[in-house]
Formats: sequence, C-alpha cells, structure tokens
Amino acid sequence: MFRFRPSLRLIPLVLLSVASLPALAADEGHDHHGNHPAHVHGVGKLDVALEGNTLTLHLDSPLINLVGFEHAASSGKDKDTVRAAVKNLREVNRMFATDAAAQCKPAEVQLESAVLTPALLGEKTPASSAPAPNDGHADLDGDFTLVCASPGALNTVDVSGLFAAFPGFQRIDVQLATPKKQGAVQLVPGSALIPLN
Ligand SMILES: [Zn+2]
Repeated sequence: MFRFRPSLRLIPLVLLSVASLPALAADEGHDHHGNHPAHVHGVGKLDVALEGNTLTLHLDSPLINLVGFEHAASSGKDKDTVRAAVKNLREVNRMFATDAAAQCKPAEVQLESAVLTPALLGEKTPASSAPAPNDGHADLDGDFTLVCASPGALNTVDVSGLFAAFPGFQRIDVQLATPKKQGAVQLVPGSALIPLN
C-alpha cells in the first residue's frame, strides 16, 4: 500500500503540466507579435494577385529602402524625404507599370508604417493598429489596388519604376497569384518584369 503513494502524488503534477501547455503556446505567439524576422535591408517583399479585373499589390519593405532611415521623421529634412517617397509611391502607374491594352487604373493606395504618422503618409484616416514597439527597425507596408478594364490583356507588371525611384532596393521577392500562374519571382534592378502568365 505504502509503495503506491508516491506515484499517486504524481498525477496532479501531470495534469498541471498538460493544462499549462495551451497557455505556454499562447505566450510564445505573443512574444513573436510585431517582429519582422525577414527584415533585411535592401530587400523588399511584394505580393501580386489578380482576381477578376482587380490587380492588388502588397509591398512590405524595410523603411530604410524607401527613405534611408527607420526612425520617426522629426526633422524638416526627414519629413521632406518621406513626402518625396510618398509622392513616388502614390504614382502607382509609374511604380507598377502594366500593359497599356489592359487599361489598368489605380483605385486605391494605402501606406502604413509604425514610425510615421498617417498624415505624413498621405492617409486621411489613422492606422488601425497601435504603433509597434520600436526595436530600431521599421517597415513600410503599401497596398496598391488597380482595376483593369481588360485584365485578359495583362501580361506583365514592370517594377523598374520602383527600383529607379528607390535605389535602396537591391532585390524584391515577389509572390504571385493569378488565375493562370502561381509562384515566386525575384526582381533586381535591371530585371524587374513580373510575368503574369
Ligand atoms: Zn531595419
């Protein structure tokens, strides 16, 4: 009888460890929130999707590629640099050139960065998410939507205008999803054409 008692005592401990597993998993998820493990200076990420007549591009870039720094724009010089970058980014047809026959027109642009105010980015409404804790690095996220009258005539998206405007980009990793094609493309200055089919 006596010999069984130690093993019986272990049962509550086992139950406790099992019960605490979900809590541990949630903690880990929280720790990773807001981190950018793929933040590499010079490298941008671009998701391109064509659905019906809507072409959407999502650019995720270290802020340094676009303005040369990743801190809040406090000086007049910094603000001017950001305004010039925003002006370029909002010229969607120049940043992301499409086939003329497809008749794509920019419909919406949304820019967001944890260290820059929505007003400076030309946004009318405040960003929905709270500013992330600044670890010295910051990204800029851009959503670009174009509506194409003849999406069937869309063969390529030319990103050379973006490379020309922002020499901070050494490479852009593209993820592509169209009805005809899915996959990854790597763009570099001088080779900046995304084939869509
Ligand atoms: Zn950085």
